[in-house]
Amino acid sequence: MQALSERLDALLADTALQRIEILGFSALKTYSPAHDSLQGHRLVSVSRRAKYLVWTFDDGVRVVLHLSQAGRLDIERPPKTTRPKGAAVRFVFGNDEIGLDGSSVGVLVREYGTHRKASWWVLAPHDEGPLAGLGPEPGSTAFTDVILSSESRRRLTTDLRDQHVVAGIGRGWGDDILHRARLSPFASLHSLNEQQRGALLTAITTVLAEALQLERTREGGLSEAKLGGRFKVHGRAGEPCPTPCGDTLNRVSFENYEMTYCPTCQTGGRVLADRRMSRLLK
Ligand SMILES: [Zn+2]
Repeated sequence: MQALSERLDALLADTALQRIEILGFSALKTYSPAHDSLQGHRLVSVSRRAKYLVWTFDDGVRVVLHLSQAGRLDIERPPKTTRPKGAAVRFVFGNDEIGLDGSSVGVLVREYGTHRKASWWVLAPHDEGPLAGLGPEPGSTAFTDVILSSESRRRLTTDLRDQHVVAGIGRGWGDDILHRARLSPFASLHSLNEQQRGALLTAITTVLAEALQLERTREGGLSEAKLGGRFKVHGRAGEPCPTPCGDTLNRVSFENYEMTYCPTCQTGGRVLADRRMSRLLK
């Protein structure tokens, strides 16, 4: 998401919004300010907050876009007028306000699959909308404070995935981070000593920096889908541990998701019991 926002910013900042074509009504979550009030306004920047893309316009109004898992952006040069399957909205930007300069760029938001979850909001200045209540981003002092001092007793994976605790750690990176920090996926912040908290902080910083580096060099479409190949640990149960310690990566279910970990590197050789399964067997 970070790399995507950087690419959009480089491509579109300082151009004017020429039009918005609503292609799927359910995706727009606000009615005021009206989306067409943005027409003719200059886009100041595209940035990221947690999993949201934030488009800031010269009048302080922001468009916030959440792509969800199956959502993606297509860049159209020149903009199309089609309505592809799964299309939610098309934004058309250009160097003038009315679209006669011939250099317009279309940004089509569409979804693959049957779940329609991509959403967008038009927010008046100072309205936080879905951004309200998000936790601090990695790299900030507030984020460091959470990792170094929180006494949360929830599973680390739960806290790292909860955007209200800490924002900006994408789905899946939690497994790679905990593996790098050599921490059990069932550990909690409360259970960590000072050294382990430090290791966790370092792991978060390095794993996210590597992820961003990889994304920045990646060619091709502006897609958030198909992330699988990027992970070193996540989703790779059954494969050899990348350290390499000689062990095989294992998977364990917790609540409604699966985690991948290395018993040798992370749990002192213990194979974790599937929590969902143990509850059923009680
Ligand atoms: Zn290992």
